[in-house]
Amino acid sequence: MSRTEFEFTDNVMYLKGVGPRRAAALEKLNIVTMYDFLTHYPRAYEDQRTITPIANLELDQTSVIVGRLSNLSMRETRTGLKIISAILSDRTGHIPLTWFNQEYIMEKLSDGMTLVVIGKTKLDGWSGEPVMNQIASFSILYPGEKPRLGIMPIYPATASLNQNFFRAAMTNLLNKMPALPEILPKNILDELNLIPLDVAMRSIHFPPTPEYLHAARRRLAFDELFLIQCGLMLIKKQTRDERLGISCEKNGRLLKTVYENLPFELTGDQKKTFKTVAKDMESKLPMRRLIQGDVGSGKTVVAMLALVKAVENGLQGAFMAPTEILANQHYETFSTMLERFGIRVALLSGKVTRSAKVKKEIYRQTENHEIDIVIGTHALVQEGLSFAKLGLVVTDEQHRFGVAQRSSLEKKAELIPDMLVMTATPIPRTMTLTVYGDLDVSLIKEMPPGRKPIKTISRHIRSRNKVYNFVLEEISAGRQAYVVCPLIQRSDSEKFQNLDPAIEIYEMLSRGIFKNVPCGLLHGKMKPKEKDEVMEKFRTGETKLLVSTTVIEVGVDVPNASVMVVEHAERFGLAQLHQLRGRVGRGSQKSYCILISDSKADIAKARMEILESTNDGFKLAEKDLQLRGPGQFFGEAQHGLPDLKIADVFRDVEILIAARDAAEKFVTDEEDLNYFVSLRKNLALAYGEKFQQITEA
Ligand code: ADP
Ligand code: MG
Repeated sequence: MSRTEFEFTDNVMYLKGVGPRRAAALEKLNIVTMYDFLTHYPRAYEDQRTITPIANLELDQTSVIVGRLSNLSMRETRTGLKIISAILSDRTGHIPLTWFNQEYIMEKLSDGMTLVVIGKTKLDGWSGEPVMNQIASFSILYPGEKPRLGIMPIYPATASLNQNFFRAAMTNLLNKMPALPEILPKNILDELNLIPLDVAMRSIHFPPTPEYLHAARRRLAFDELFLIQCGLMLIKKQTRDERLGISCEKNGRLLKTVYENLPFELTGDQKKTFKTVAKDMESKLPMRRLIQGDVGSGKTVVAMLALVKAVENGLQGAFMAPTEILANQHYETFSTMLERFGIRVALLSGKVTRSAKVKKEIYRQTENHEIDIVIGTHALVQEGLSFAKLGLVVTDEQHRFGVAQRSSLEKKAELIPDMLVMTATPIPRTMTLTVYGDLDVSLIKEMPPGRKPIKTISRHIRSRNKVYNFVLEEISAGRQAYVVCPLIQRSDSEKFQNLDPAIEIYEMLSRGIFKNVPCGLLHGKMKPKEKDEVMEKFRTGETKLLVSTTVIEVGVDVPNASVMVVEHAERFGLAQLHQLRGRVGRGSQKSYCILISDSKADIAKARMEILESTNDGFKLAEKDLQLRGPGQFFGEAQHGLPDLKIADVFRDVEILIAARDAAEKFVTDEEDLNYFVSLRKNLALAYGEKFQQITEA
């Protein structure tokens, strides 16, 4: 084997200055190959481009000085602090140096050595004289050596691998590595004004100027995002190429009739979204679209129109709701709006399936195309139901993350049905691009007219009585109210012992302050039939106060409800609280959401403040993301995408969008096969098994 050959997949152990022991330490940083090492980017830089003569040092500035060391000594204070001091002199003057608690320096340095020191000059508190006591780094200059000047990288390091090691080994790697071939076509480079890859890679480690550094970071962040986007698009393309989808005709009579009979005018965003959806459905490629819109933005009607379009084309549709309550509600809406035009809508939910006979009949009718649209929960629609001609599947995910549960319905059909996913999760755009990267995204930002903003207030548990007195006033004025609690029953576990369960709160309120008010109780352990009854009574206004667990979280629509009290608000996540309060503010009344908590934790306080400050779900999600970081934001729903090494989806929004657009064109054009081959190779190099299915192709 020739040692001069160089492969990025080689073990980093063979790099000059590394060796087996350091390679083992590098592995702890997830660095195994040469490529891993090359893409171990600096976390910061030190500007060491010019040497300052000691006489010209300025206070509070970080500077590089070079001089001879003398008077090196160490003393210990009474409190045990070890102070190392010395003098550094050059031809213009001298300055004291001070290190604290760094005994190893005594072994490394000795009087007479020439040092390059980078540090900040301060006024000494005792002597009042200038001293360099914030020393960022120093290196020994042996006879005949020149100081290494420039913008120096600072790498993420460990105890056993210091900056000097990284700088030296990286220099070796860059010297040994052949010029990196360009992986992007010239038109992309020109259009986006990106510097060549080889220049970028060398400049990110040792930038000749700050301008180079900026351009290098931009280029490498682009590449990283571009590669991932290409990977996602190739996956999307592959699934689309496999079988053909259905193509619908242009919008026809039936759709027009339904549209004209809607009880309201669509908002601009709703119109735009439906137009896009209609176009997707008319195309031969299967639709894979995500509609993202805050709670109450009116996603349902867009889905309904899409379903009507499918029906108009002789196809069937399925609408999957996240809960039974919601399935019931959608069924009511759909049947009142659609049945008068001859569209046959069926509900498959607890209500119906309690009778095996009715359920069987709906299954039979669906199979024989005697039903056009089936509405149910995810479970009900999936289990064993088969369609004569399924054309569109709508999934209402509400705030659930991820696209993990791809419907099994899809696999049964001969042609791939179109698919529409709706989510109320206000995921920032940048995140959508990465998490839902294989779906096209439509955004409904505009709210239907006439919505009053919800006033959100957080209160300490001490003020509970005041809060409920206020609720009583609202109810006396004709409104209705929700009280939401985190748990059903007091659990045995220590952790939740202080939580007031819904049942207890219900007892306390309905016998106490609300004893003359009709109250209802709703929780997840109730039988579906009981739930329906309780919900129905609240909807019709028979009950005024509804105490519940989070089962009311999703989609329930009672416009007269204007107050929501959340007990133990600190137990809920930001996104969930935002969803919850979306239940109020649906009518013309001024609405309130009152968060009761007894938590003093900063993070809980910060969350309450964010909720008080904005009603905009998107802003809120971004703040939540900042507060918790992407990992926690997505919780257990693994997004399964590689970690980014240099790009930052918040800071680099513009780069991300450019990368997305470029990737889209690139993958569909496939004009330049050479680039395509190198793209696959780079994907494999950078992300290995994450994109295995396409890199093996
Ligand atoms: P979400 O996006 O949260 O699912 P919905 O589809 O349930 O929201 O809509 C919330 C409410 O707004 C419903 O009562 C619906 O009838 C109403 N709505 C939807 N679109 C409009 C509109 N363009 N104008 C007026 N009201 C609308
Ligand atoms: Mg909804």
